Amino acid sequence: MKSIENFDLSQRTGRYQARKHGFDVPKQKPGAKPHEFWSLVDKKSESECWNWLGAVNQWGYGRYNNEGTHMAHRYAYELEHGKSIKGFVAMHKCDNPRCCNIRHLEIGTHADNQYDKVNKNRQAKGEQQGMSILTEKQVKEAREKYKPRIVTYKMLAKEYGVCKDTMQKAVRGILWGHI
Ligand SMILES: [Zn+2]
Repeated sequence: MKSIENFDLSQRTGRYQARKHGFDVPKQKPGAKPHEFWSLVDKKSESECWNWLGAVNQWGYGRYNNEGTHMAHRYAYELEHGKSIKGFVAMHKCDNPRCCNIRHLEIGTHADNQYDKVNKNRQAKGEQQGMSILTEKQVKEAREKYKPRIVTYKMLAKEYGVCKDTMQKAVRGILWGHI
């Protein structure tokens, strides 16, 4: 007689086996439960990169679906720290976009990220880099909205879900100077 501990319930196959042995384990949609997240990460020692095993986006960042699409490394950070990092960028100190080891991440502002990229001699050019939190279209829109001086940077920042500093730099062309 097997007990429920014999099955790996974090895996779909494990859950399926458990059901076959008569345990009442509910079915799970792919990627629907937060605890499934880590089953898609190749966890290694603290110092090594933990590569995302699931789908990646066009820039090589892991993509995780759970009530919307998330960047896997950001999701990892939010899961571990239990707080949102919306409006901040999560930079890979290891330069490996698939890595979900949160010890390899540094949370900062968009400006830090630009600085970091320039430092590493990587062309920092807006949304092509995949780390941008504003699209070119949004930056152009925001600049138009700001022109009549009715809305503040703070209001625009709130509207686009970024920090005030980022919005101010985007509107003034300190960031996104190429558009
Ligand atoms: Zn890494």
